[in-house]
Amino acid sequence: MRVLRFATTNPHKVREVRGLLAGVPVQVETLAGLPPGAEPEETADSFEGNARIKGLHYAARCPGEYVVSEDSGLEVDALGGAPGVHSARFLGPDATYEARFAEILRRLRDVPEAGRTARFVCALVVARDGAILFETRGVIEGRVAPAPAGAGGFGYDPIFFSPELGCTLAEAGDVKASVSHRAHAVAALARWAGNLK
Ligand code: IMP
Repeated sequence: MRVLRFATTNPHKVREVRGLLAGVPVQVETLAGLPPGAEPEETADSFEGNARIKGLHYAARCPGEYVVSEDSGLEVDALGGAPGVHSARFLGPDATYEARFAEILRRLRDVPEAGRTARFVCALVVARDGAILFETRGVIEGRVAPAPAGAGGFGYDPIFFSPELGCTLAEAGDVKASVSHRAHAVAALARWAGNLK
């Protein structure tokens, strides 16, 4: 069976992705079994750029393998797209999500609900031996909630309100995994992987 090696150690992402690829005849591996090595610096100013950097970096460590990498984050329109590619490091790498939520809500305090539009973006690539073989972008549109709500999910889920679901992604339970930005990107990956000869 074809192996897709996901360049992540984030257990939330691994769980979401394994569930999404459950019906596809591929074996999902992660970086977990590899000897530890240097992580690439995510220096690009776009999700796609960072996904490519990570994909090519880990493909070089796994010759001949299909390496899947993704870069994702939250874009808030009224904040000029912030935290964007800096989502994981917003306010510093050790900042708590509570502090990040409070700062985003503070910056949006004078913005009416209709102007609090936001989206999660997931840029996903497949790399092998120095080449990018496949690229896609998944998006879920929503808005910044008036206050954090819900205990599920991870990251910015408690402040991301989905009008489609009528709740935040942290309140959405397992449904999140099938409607998220990552779900859309992995669905495209599944179609691509399903056609691999
Ligand atoms: P990455 O691991 O470099 O792609 O950073 C992604 C960051 O974006 C995460 O650490 C979270 O802060 C945020 N993020 C990405 N996807 C999600 C999601 O599904 N829910 C909540 N936050 C997310």
